[in-house]
Amino acid sequence: MDRTDWPFFDAPHRAFATELDAWAAANVRDVHGDHDVDAACRQLVRQLGDAGWLKHAVAGREYGGAGEAIDTRTICLARETLARHNGLADFAFAMQGLGSGAISLAGTPQQKARWLPKVASGEAIAAFALSEPDAGSDVAAMQCAARVEGDVAILDGEKTWISNGGIADVYVVFMRTGEAPGARGISAFVVEAGTPGFEIAERIDVIAPHPLARLRFTNCRVPLGHRIGAAGEGFKVAMGTLDVFRTSVAAAALGFGRRAMDEGLARARSRAMFGGVLGDFQLTQAKLAEMATTLDAAALLVYRAAWQRDQGHNVTREAAMAKMFATEGAQQVIDAAVQLWGGQGVRSGETVERLYREIRALRIYEGATEVQQLIIGRDVLKNG
Ligand SMILES: Cc1cc2nc3c(=O)[nH]c(=O)nc-3n(C[C@H](O)[C@H](O)[C@H](O)COP(=O)(O)OP(=O)(O)OC[C@H]3O[C@@H](n4cnc5c(N)ncnc54)[C@H](O)[C@@H]3O)c2cc1C
Repeated sequence: MDRTDWPFFDAPHRAFATELDAWAAANVRDVHGDHDVDAACRQLVRQLGDAGWLKHAVAGREYGGAGEAIDTRTICLARETLARHNGLADFAFAMQGLGSGAISLAGTPQQKARWLPKVASGEAIAAFALSEPDAGSDVAAMQCAARVEGDVAILDGEKTWISNGGIADVYVVFMRTGEAPGARGISAFVVEAGTPGFEIAERIDVIAPHPLARLRFTNCRVPLGHRIGAAGEGFKVAMGTLDVFRTSVAAAALGFGRRAMDEGLARARSRAMFGGVLGDFQLTQAKLAEMATTLDAAALLVYRAAWQRDQGHNVTREAAMAKMFATEGAQQVIDAAVQLWGGQGVRSGETVERLYREIRALRIYEGATEVQQLIIGRDVLKNG
C-alpha cells in the first residue's frame, strides 16, 4: 500500500503526489546548485511557479493560491516528494511558503494582492527573517527594532541565517516595537529588496549550499502599511507561520530519508561481495529493517500532524514530535545509507554524500531538536 492510501489523505492529495513525483522526475531530479546556487534557486522557483506547484504555498484563490487556506498535507507531500528528488527544489518551494506565510495568514487584502500572486507564480522570491546573531532559539531576545514616525516605520538592526537572503524580492522581517516586554512587543513588516537602508551584510556558505545571508537595516524606512497584523502581534504571526511549516520540515526530512533508503537498497541489491551481494547478509537486512521502520514511523507522525492541522486542531505537540523524530530519524537513515555505500558513500557528488550534508541543518532550524523536546515534554507534563 502506498502511503497516500493512508486514511489521512483524500483523492486530490493522491493525485497531487503522483503528478508532482512525475514532474520532479522529469524536471528537477538531481539538479545541483553547487556552482551557482543563486541561479539554480531562481530557476527552480520559476519552474515550480510555471508548473503551478507554488500555488499550494500561498492562501487565497483570488491571490493566486490553490485554495482559500494552506493545506498542510499538500505542503508536506510537496516537500517530501521534492526533497526525495532534489533538495534545492524542496528549499525553493518551502521558502516561497515560509517567506509569504505571514502575509497569507495575517495580511490585509491589499498586502495579499500586492505580494502573493507574484510569490505563487514564481515571479517574486520570498524570505522569512526572524533569527538574529544573539536571538536564535531564544526568539524573545530579539534586538532588531522599529520605531514609528507618522505613517512610516524605521527599521534598525541585523538578521542572520536568512534563507534566500540576497536573492529574495520580498522579506518578512520581525522587529521589536516595544508594545510590551519580551515576545509580546514584536511586529512583522514586509521589506522589499532595494529599499534604502536595507542591505545584504554578508553571504553565508553552509555545507549544503543554498542562498543564505545576514541582513542589515540602517534607518530603513518602510510604509506603516507594510506591517503585517496588529502592532505587537508579530510573535503570534511568526509562531502561526511556523506552526504550518514546522511539520513540513519533518516532511522534507522524510523525503531525504526515503531517497537514502532508495540508494541504500539499490546498493544492497547490487554490491557484489563474498560470493553474493551486500543484501544477502543478515546484518544488512537488520539495518534495512531499521531504516524502513524509522521512515514509516516518521511518515505516520508527519501526516498525523498535517491531517490534524487541516481538521482545525492545535498541533503544537504533534508538529514538534514529527519534526524531532523525522529529522533525527532521517539523519540515522542517511548515515546508514552512506555506510552501505562504503568508500563511495563519502565521495563528493555521490547522492548519499549530498544527503548527508543536506539533512544536517534540519535538526537545527525552525526549532532545534532540543527545543522540540522541551515543547513535547512540557505538554506531556501538563496534559499527560
Ligand atoms: C541552513 C539554515 C537556514 C536557516 N534559515 C532561516 C531563515 O530563513 N529565517 C530565519 O529566521 N532563521 C533561519 N535559520 C536560523 C535558525 O532558525 C537558527 O539557527 C535556530 O533557531 C537556532 O538558533 P542559533 O543558530 O542561534 O542557535 P542557538 O540558539 O545558539 O542554539 C544552539 C543549540 O543549543 C541547543 N539548545 C537550544 N535551546 C536549548 C535549550 N532550551 N536547552 C538545551 N539546549 C538548547 C540546540 O541544540 C541548538 O542547536 C536558519 C539556520 C540554518 C542553519
